[in-house]
Amino acid sequence: MSASISLTPPNFASLEQALKHYFGYEQFRPGQRQIIEAALQKQDLLVIMPTGGGKSLCFQLPALLQPGLTVVVSPLIALMQDQVQALQDNGIGATFLNSSLSAAETRQREASVFRGEVKLLYVAPERLLGDRFLPLLDQINARVGVTAFAIDEAHCVSEWGHDFRPEYRQLRTLRDRYPEVPVLALTATATDRVRQDIVAQLELNQPVVHVASFNRQNLYYEVRLKPRGAYSELLQFVQQTPGSGIIYCLSRRRVDELTAQLQRDGIAALPYHAGLDDQTRRENQIRFIRDDVRVMVATVAFGMGINKPDVRFVVHYDAPRNLEGYYQESGRAGRDGEAARCILFFGYGDIKTAEYLIDQKPDPNEQRIARQQLRQVIDYAEGTDCRRRIQLGYFGERFEGGCNNCDNCLHPQPIEDWTIEAQKFLSCVARCREKFGMNHIIDVLRGSKNQKVMQYRHNELSTYGIGKDRTADMWRTLGRSLLHQGLVAETTDGFPVLRLNALSWEVLRKQRSVAIAVPRAVDEMETTSSTRAEIEVLFGRLRHLRKQLADEQSVPPYVVFADSSLKLMAQLQPQTLEQFSKISGVGSHKLKQYGDRFIAEIRAYRQEQGLTLLPLVAPSTRPVPAPPPSTASAASPTHLLTLELHQQGCSPADIAEKRNLRLSTIYDHLGILIESGHPINVTELVPVERQQQICHAIQTVGDDSLRSIRDKLGETFDYNEIRLVRAAWRRSLDPAPNSGLE
Ligand code: ADP
Ligand code: ZN
Repeated sequence: MSASISLTPPNFASLEQALKHYFGYEQFRPGQRQIIEAALQKQDLLVIMPTGGGKSLCFQLPALLQPGLTVVVSPLIALMQDQVQALQDNGIGATFLNSSLSAAETRQREASVFRGEVKLLYVAPERLLGDRFLPLLDQINARVGVTAFAIDEAHCVSEWGHDFRPEYRQLRTLRDRYPEVPVLALTATATDRVRQDIVAQLELNQPVVHVASFNRQNLYYEVRLKPRGAYSELLQFVQQTPGSGIIYCLSRRRVDELTAQLQRDGIAALPYHAGLDDQTRRENQIRFIRDDVRVMVATVAFGMGINKPDVRFVVHYDAPRNLEGYYQESGRAGRDGEAARCILFFGYGDIKTAEYLIDQKPDPNEQRIARQQLRQVIDYAEGTDCRRRIQLGYFGERFEGGCNNCDNCLHPQPIEDWTIEAQKFLSCVARCREKFGMNHIIDVLRGSKNQKVMQYRHNELSTYGIGKDRTADMWRTLGRSLLHQGLVAETTDGFPVLRLNALSWEVLRKQRSVAIAVPRAVDEMETTSSTRAEIEVLFGRLRHLRKQLADEQSVPPYVVFADSSLKLMAQLQPQTLEQFSKISGVGSHKLKQYGDRFIAEIRAYRQEQGLTLLPLVAPSTRPVPAPPPSTASAASPTHLLTLELHQQGCSPADIAEKRNLRLSTIYDHLGILIESGHPINVTELVPVERQQQICHAIQTVGDDSLRSIRDKLGETFDYNEIRLVRAAWRRSLDPAPNSGLE
């Protein structure tokens, strides 16, 4: 430890000079100066800054400019060591006490605190509150004085945050013992609920609250549709992007598979997930931080412990579950303020898996909220507005205009003036008394006669049917953009209801115009700007498919569809059954018989071309459910007996024994029960992680053959669990008509 630290800090002409002296920086980042001034006035503080915003300096510099010792509470040993190391490298008296030290080392460090050589002492909360430390702190306070307590990662006090740690709750002891010592709480968590909790739990005294902008200007955001050969695109991206990166996947198995693939292709990559033992995880992390490996492939469990400032890219290879998660995870890029890229690979298959998993959640309220959050992720991915604007809007921060550092800003879709449509839309929200969600508003605008519209007599509203001239998809594009632009609000409790805000009224009063970026593919299904040659290519593929279908039935191709129908398909590229049904030559029979196959071909083509894809089944246009597959015969009395025993809490093995039937028969029963809509909680029978893996296999090989699914998964999976998950999977694709959200 440097012995040059004196008890009285040196005088500086300005805070900037001190900043330069200790840290070598020329100027403060936004907010730092005000926070430091408040700290020097001994105010309590709550500092909310995004990761990489420069929180540490906010308590470090005041610590150096005042006599006495600042105690820093920090939850993670790795973080503590990093920060102390960085301070010592700057010649600053800093040290830590935690369980990794020997008794002798601890005594040595304590002695140097008493000698006044230490300005910043880092401690883990459990150590701080232990029997031994508090009396020591009393002595330190008497000898050198405690200047402030800085509580890092303060959201850990809150059960509403994502990292609740009960020992953080006891930190209020500090307030009781040292009422005159100011407390600085710092966090990167954005939600209001957690903020309030921090103030209450730590008994902050009229704190100065500083909420920094969550805009991370140095991050570039992009969404890519996940094509069939997504891996080669990912590989290319990793090869072409210099520097370290993190790739997130949803499951451990996917992490392991992808790591192996990347390694085979010559990328220095390591896995990181909760299935690895602590030792391996630590080692992998250290090798990443030290640049021994360039890429970390991780599940989202890859927590806040990672303190690598120079991560140059974060790829989400699977869709995130909600936007807050996406913001925090992608935010691990570019903490040093240098440019970094955040890429989301967005595939509808992932969304199906996510929906499937949501369906398995036992609590309907949790399900609703998860569904709404997933909807927001889809809206983000399909959105045409500035990605930054969408993200910041999610945290209640308004960002006007475009950022010029996201894909939508750099490659904008054509902008159109939709003021009149916006007025129709918003006035319909008003007429429906701000009690309904987007799909219902669109139904009313388009003059739907569905049960809900009739039940509320919304067919009598003046806005009923005034939007017939636009497709439901177009209205959804508008509605989504209004939300993203903050021109209408939506409740977030899982019952997404549209509400007017001040800006909505400006639009309604003609004080504000509305422009939206219109994705070409959605635009009324009119001939897209695809060139003739592109249309020819798709036409060729559709002919090929027609030939295949014709051969299967031993009929000539024109019986399947006429050339003219195929031409229209190639031009209009319908992507949903509803759109397909409008092609000339498609009747209800052919729709049923061939719709799915042709749509799949068209979507595959569009995906390969990087063209926009619509959700397969827009909630408002859910087609008549297809007849259940042949295995899904309706439940008969023998099935219902199994159900009864299951509901009494018998395991499948118990039931098999009681009924003197084979175990596989019982699983058959359970599968049929699930498919026919009986409430069976699959998660009680198959762990979620395994369900995820089975879903991935189904996505790859289809759901027809249990055998191919099993082959894909390997021998550690048995047919029984696959059968159950496949049943739930099928069920989730075809939910009961009234189970969907408004
Ligand atoms: P946080 O804790 O908010 O995630 P840090 O305190 O770790 O962020 O700061 C992130 C990075 O920014 C660090 O490398 C830090 O040294 C650097 N930094 C902080 N303040 C400044 C500044 N005023 N000028 C330049 N770099 C800064
Ligand atoms: Zn942008």
